[in-house]
Order: sequence, then structure tokens, then C-alpha cells
Amino acid sequence: MMLAYMDRAAAAAEPEDAGEPAPVSGAGCAAASDFGGLVSAVPAAVVRPASADDVARAIRAAAQTAHLTVAARGNGHSVAGQAMAEGGLVLDMRALALSPRRAQPQMQLVHHGGACFADVPGGALWEEVLHWGVSNHGLAPASWTDYLRLTVGGTLSNGGVSGQSFRYGPQVSNVAELEVVTGDGECRVCSPSSHPDLFFAVLGGLGQFGVITRARIPLRKAPQSVRWTRVVYASFADYTADAEWLVTRPPDGGAAFDYVEGFAFVNSDDPVNGWPSVHIPGGARFDPSLLPAGAGPVLYCLEVALHQYAHRPDDDDDDDDDDGDQAAAGARVSRMMAPLKYVRGLEFSADVGYVDFLSRVNRVEEEARRNGSWDAPHPWLNLFVSARDIAAFDEAVIKGMLADGIDGPMLVYPMLKSKWDPNTSVALPDGEVFYLVALLRFCRGGGPAVDELVAQNGAILRACRANGYDFKAYFPSYRGEEDWARHFGAARWRRFVERKARYDPLAILAPGQRIFPRAS
Ligand code: FAD
Repeated sequence: MMLAYMDRAAAAAEPEDAGEPAPVSGAGCAAASDFGGLVSAVPAAVVRPASADDVARAIRAAAQTAHLTVAARGNGHSVAGQAMAEGGLVLDMRALALSPRRAQPQMQLVHHGGACFADVPGGALWEEVLHWGVSNHGLAPASWTDYLRLTVGGTLSNGGVSGQSFRYGPQVSNVAELEVVTGDGECRVCSPSSHPDLFFAVLGGLGQFGVITRARIPLRKAPQSVRWTRVVYASFADYTADAEWLVTRPPDGGAAFDYVEGFAFVNSDDPVNGWPSVHIPGGARFDPSLLPAGAGPVLYCLEVALHQYAHRPDDDDDDDDDDGDQAAAGARVSRMMAPLKYVRGLEFSADVGYVDFLSRVNRVEEEARRNGSWDAPHPWLNLFVSARDIAAFDEAVIKGMLADGIDGPMLVYPMLKSKWDPNTSVALPDGEVFYLVALLRFCRGGGPAVDELVAQNGAILRACRANGYDFKAYFPSYRGEEDWARHFGAARWRRFVERKARYDPLAILAPGQRIFPRAS
């Protein structure tokens, strides 16, 4: 294990094989900040574990002190300090994935019960899992996030959603087994049949119950490409009716897409917030003259994708007829889209390689790095809003407070509660159909001050409460027991507290979530 720096009490408890301590450079150290750029917390030390045993040793060392906490840091893509530990230990989970001196995480293909799985380190990026699976085995997980430079442990501690969630479930529904180091420094392997309470506690558990050092992810045959389509709506009612119809299609019988997402955008030529945001590489240009007279200030883009396989499983000939496959997929998509009420003519399609499709947000990252907004603060707000209240939310918030856009995507798309296991720690709205609303603000400069945007997020949350919407924060950032208890609801909060007492009785883990104070 490499220690960047450890305070004296913990260093005394540290085993002899620890590496040489080196100072952490205060607020400048990566572990003191995150993608959000809104908060900073300087740790006492950054620990670079090479194994689950190293993770266990660090946690046990912290337990022997009166005050030290431990935060696993995946890729630091939280936005409110969730992976930080002020004056505590930060476990750099990327080191666990890449050590010793590996350029790529070590992953293993596992065959069990006629199915294939990937055993991956908790600090592996989903992008690394994708490339390893597709290049080496022609296999891939079914459920993704939009952006793949997130760690497996980081997204499994939250949920992990994207356009596949309605059909294949979120990432927390796509795990067969976990290796977890709990707050008492014990390393346990858990699954739905072995230590199920720990397994489900950790999934969506905000890092509170243990550090995920390994995950077993089910794999399936990787598609060759996807038919990627976007269509535009002027009416929110039509948009949601179609989106909900699509996500409730029976998956068998070829009637369902593999991916359904969508976003709100501004009815203007603004390059970031407006019509140009609908463009997809290889697709047509947006022609605003096709919009109906009387279209409002906000429009909606529904995005779907259909997997294509080079050789369909029922093919018994070896003809590599990609053009024919693509034409057939195009015709099938057209048939599936025919009943939808989008603005005719405002449809954009392209056939894209599967890996390219899943890597599509990398282009956004490149552009944001070029214009400086990747490193600027990100006052993001993510909510799950019940279908019951999404029209009211659209009126009050999207058309009301955000009609000029947010300098970034405003994702609004449905998923199904029945695809989430109620035993996990994730808090969801009550209704079966609920929407992810993701306000992904990029601060390019020249816009409102960051404080104003943070205040606006607060105002949105207050409006949701005042209007009695059935909603939950996704990546919640609350302070104090009252807020957390309300977030989970009485019964689930009780279970959360009991699980904390069982697996992390000293409240050592993930202090950046600000749920439980460290016990001495
Ligand atoms: P971190 O931010 O490092 O950690 C998050 C939390 O998990 C912390 O509390 C940390 O202590 C804990 N943690 C980290 N690793 C472990 C581990 N191994 N064991 C236990 N606890 C751990 N989310 C989606 O669902 N869908 C998306 O499409 C999506 N897109 C995104 C795009 C961008 C550009 C960004 C910045 C974020 C996006 N997210 C998305 C949010 C993302 O899933 C979360 O922020 C996630 O926590 C980030 O993973 P990370 O590896 O950076 O975790």
C-alpha cells in the first residue's frame, strides 16, 4: 500500500509494509476536490491500496483512532464532496484497479451456470470494462451510464442509470456478486444468496456500509452497432406519452428499443442550449421551419437506439451483409416510430458502432476541456420525479425557471421502478414510472454566478416539496438527520440506520455524504 501521508495516530497503527509517506499538497491535492468544484475538504492522507487487504488495513487503522474517517474515491465525479474525507483517509480506488504498475485493470471472465460475468476491481472505469469485454470476448454489460469515465464502485454506490435502465435495469440491478470491506475492516463476498443484506445495503448505499473492492457484472453478446435516432416534440404531453409508451413495450417480440432517453432544449439557435444540441454525428441538420406555429420556448428531444448484431443469432449463413442489416434496422426503427407524435421532418438517425455510441459523451468532454468548462464548477441537480408529477414539474421548473436553458443538457426521460430491487439502498419515488431529471449545468463563463445556480437548485427542491411532488434526489446532498430521514422515508431510513450500525458501527466510511457523525 502506498501512503501519500498519514497522521501520527493512524501511522502508528499502520502495518510495516506501508510505503513511504509523502505529504499531501493541501487543497491542491486531487482528493480535496471533485467534479462539482463547489466544496473542498483536505484529507490527512491519501492511501493507494494495492489489494482488498490494504483497504481493510486502512479501515482498521482508522478504527483504532478516535476520529479518523475513510472515504473511497472512485474517479471523483461527485459534485458535492461525497468522496472526500476532511482530515481523514481517502482511498484512491483507481490505484486498486491499476496496481501493481498495471496500465489496465485486471479483469477476469467468469463462467457460471451457463452465463458469463466479468470480475472487475471496484476502481475500474466502465470505459475500461467496455473495451476489455468487447475487444477480448465480444461481450459487454447490459446497463450503462451516459458517461463511462466513472468507476464501477462509484456508480454502484449510487444507482447507475442511462437509456438502458428502463429495459435492463440500472447498474445496481446488474450485479451478481460483490467483494466488500465493511467499516469493521472485514472483507466479505456477498451476493443475493450469500450475505444478501450486505449485498443490497451496499448497492446504492452511498458508500456507507463498505468499500466495493470487486464486482461481478453479468455480460451478454455485444452488439456490433446501434441505430441511433432522435426526434423532436413541441408538446411535453406528446413527448411523455410517447416516451412512456416506448418504455412499457414488452421486451420480447422485437417491439422494444434497447435505449430510450430524452432531453429538453431551448427553442432557439443557441449553440449549447438550442436546436444545435439535437444534432447527432452522421444525422441531418435541424430545420426550425418545420416546427409547428405556436411552438413554445422549450422543445423536447426523444432519443432511442436499437442494437444491431453483425450476424443475428438465428443466422446460419456467414454472409457479412452490414448494409442489408442496417437497411433492415432502419426499416424496423421506422415501423417502431410510426405511431409516435413527434414533429415530422425533425428526425435524425445514424448507424454508429456500439463502442462509439456508448462513448458519445467523450466528445462532450473534449469540447468542455477545450472551452474550460470541464474544470469549472458544476452545480448539478439530479432528481427522480414520478410520472404523476412530471407535467407539473415541466410547467413550474423547466418552462418556468429554466426556459432559457442551463448551459448544458436538461435530461428528462422515464424508467420503471419494477426494474429496481427494493432491497437496495436506493430511494425512489412511489410510482412505477418515474423520470430522471438531470440538470447538467456547465459554467462557460459570462453566465450567472455559481452561487446563483446553487441557489436556483435549492429553489427547485423547495418548489418540488411545496407542490407535493413525488420525487427523490439522485446523488442526494443533504445535511443532518432530518433531511436524510425525509429522503429515505421512515421505514427505509430505519433500515439504513440499522445497516449502518451493523456494517460500520463507528461511522468511519464515506463522511463526505454527511449522514452519520464519526463515533469515538
Ligand atoms: P466518486 O465521486 O469518486 O464517489 C462517489 C461516492 O461513492 C462517494 O461517496 C464515494 O465514497 C463512494 N465510492 C466510490 N467508490 C467506491 C467503492 N469502490 N466502494 C464504495 N463506495 C465508493 N450517473 C449516472 O447514473 N448516469 C450517468 O449517465 C451519469 N453521467 C455522468 C456524467 C458526468 C460527466 C459526471 C461527472 C457524472 C455522471 N454521473 C452519472 C454521476 C456519477 O455516476 C456519480 O457521480 C458517481 O458517483 C461517480 O463515480 P466516481 O467513480 O467518480 O465516484
